Amino acid sequence: MTLTERQEYLEGGYEKVACTRCDALVRVRKSSPQQTSVQWTTQAEKTCVNPLSALVPTCLDLRASIDDAIRDGRLGVI
Ligand SMILES: [Zn+2]
Repeated sequence: MTLTERQEYLEGGYEKVACTRCDALVRVRKSSPQQTSVQWTTQAEKTCVNPLSALVPTCLDLRASIDDAIRDGRLGVI
């Protein structure tokens, strides 16, 4: 992680969430109960077993992992 990335991470309120199925590590920020921002890294896109497309913009397993993190309180609304 570069210094700039780290600052962005700290200031942006992003939490790292790993997909339980494919181990892709993405950064997630919840700005409201309905709004979830997910930042994919090139590495995560390569790691994910589900091909990302316009129709499926995110890994569904990751989606479930994010929901779990919210339920566990690991990911809160900023
Ligand atoms: Zn995945």
